[in-house]
Amino acid sequence: LTSGLEAAWSKLKGEEALTKENIAEPMRDIRRALLEADVSLPVVRRFVQSVSDQAVGVGLIRGVRPDQQLVKIVYDELVKLMGGEVSDLVISKSGTTVILLAGLQGVGKTTVCAKLAFYLKKLGKSCMMIAADVYRPAAIDQLKILGDQVGVTVYTEGTEVKPSQIAINGIEEARKRKIDVAIVDTAGRLQLNKTMMDELKEVKQAVNPTEVLLVVDAMTGQEAAALVTTFSIEIGITGAILTKLDGDSRGGAALSIREVSGKPIKLVGRGERMEDLEPFYPDRMAGRILGMGDVLSFVEKAQEVMQQEVAEELQRKIMSAKFDFNDFLKQTRAVAKMGSVSRVIGMIPGMAKVNPAQIREAEKNLKIMESMINVMTPEEREKPELLAESPTRRRRVATESGKSEQQVSQLVAQLFQMRIQMKNLLGVMEGGSIPALKN
Ligand code: GDP
Ligand code: MG
Repeated sequence: LTSGLEAAWSKLKGEEALTKENIAEPMRDIRRALLEADVSLPVVRRFVQSVSDQAVGVGLIRGVRPDQQLVKIVYDELVKLMGGEVSDLVISKSGTTVILLAGLQGVGKTTVCAKLAFYLKKLGKSCMMIAADVYRPAAIDQLKILGDQVGVTVYTEGTEVKPSQIAINGIEEARKRKIDVAIVDTAGRLQLNKTMMDELKEVKQAVNPTEVLLVVDAMTGQEAAALVTTFSIEIGITGAILTKLDGDSRGGAALSIREVSGKPIKLVGRGERMEDLEPFYPDRMAGRILGMGDVLSFVEKAQEVMQQEVAEELQRKIMSAKFDFNDFLKQTRAVAKMGSVSRVIGMIPGMAKVNPAQIREAEKNLKIMESMINVMTPEEREKPELLAESPTRRRRVATESGKSEQQVSQLVAQLFQMRIQMKNLLGVMEGGSIPALKN
């Protein structure tokens, strides 16, 4: 995946900006790289569309090359695709939390069961593992051996009792012993089939688990999406555990799971040892896929500097009380390009208290305001007083912009209001006043 993506960036070397034309070929490379990594087709389509939309509309950051900027957009989108944040296991504060493991045969459920017990033990939780795979006596022995290794009790009733009954009895036993977490290991099949699903449904119903975690082998290719969808619909899962990430997996499963199920990957296994289980970090995974850590931090830094510059210029303007319609337009545009007025406003010392709801409202009205400012004469933009004094001018702006006179009046009043509000917030004492609009 990494090398496929590198081809994409290299095609942008020497370009000055990202355009619809020059990203076409890199986007094809990205698409191909994702498909080759076994990401499912609908996921690839949505991903590529979203990246293209953002790339063409993006404001260039000074000192950052377009190819670097595209890397950053792809990275952010990858992180988003994988759920953004780390998703913790849900463990109740009191009582016994039940975790049910599901998945095909050989994906690593039994191993994960013991790894998870070991992981939770390190976090100070007492655990019990319940052997509800009754089809292979060897499966129970395997769990017992692992239980000995990590020092966690295994509850078993052999192979003659129904899995759902074993699960119920095991959890009752765990509750009696005031165990924090009971992990139920279930049987898988090589293929999705009704018997497995019915049995899982029965176990789930019997024990009402807090977490139902689908264990997925990272080597699963294109089928991962269908697999996750089926388990998601039939059983209802709360998350996934991705195993065997230490192998030469192409990473596709990691990218599809969240998108097709809406549920996060919570943990990943990267080896056969009991300590090889860790939380899933979407940002680290995205970074690894791209293999371009330094480009990312460089672009982030440049973005920060640019936001800082816009914020400082805005502050200078407000301080000198010359904030006019030109600034209004320039600032709001620059800010809109970067996504959020509130982030920039928040950077101005003393301005963090601006009501976020007001800011959102302002963002929404931006387009309307722009259309009115666009038809103002240069003089009117510089001296908003002209508009305050002349109803004829306001009427003209209204007609030419296709807005109502009331909207124009509001805009003029708002500019003066902003001057005052910002000055007050910055602690500049003489606040000025809003001139009454003459009729
Ligand atoms: P189950 O059928 O789903 O219970 O799968 P098992 O837990 O029995 O695991 C099947 C095989 O995969 C075993 O040989 C494990 O040692 C191996 N395995 C499980 N997890 C990992 C992992 O994260 N990395 C590697 N390399 N092997 C693993
Ligand atoms: Mg097993």
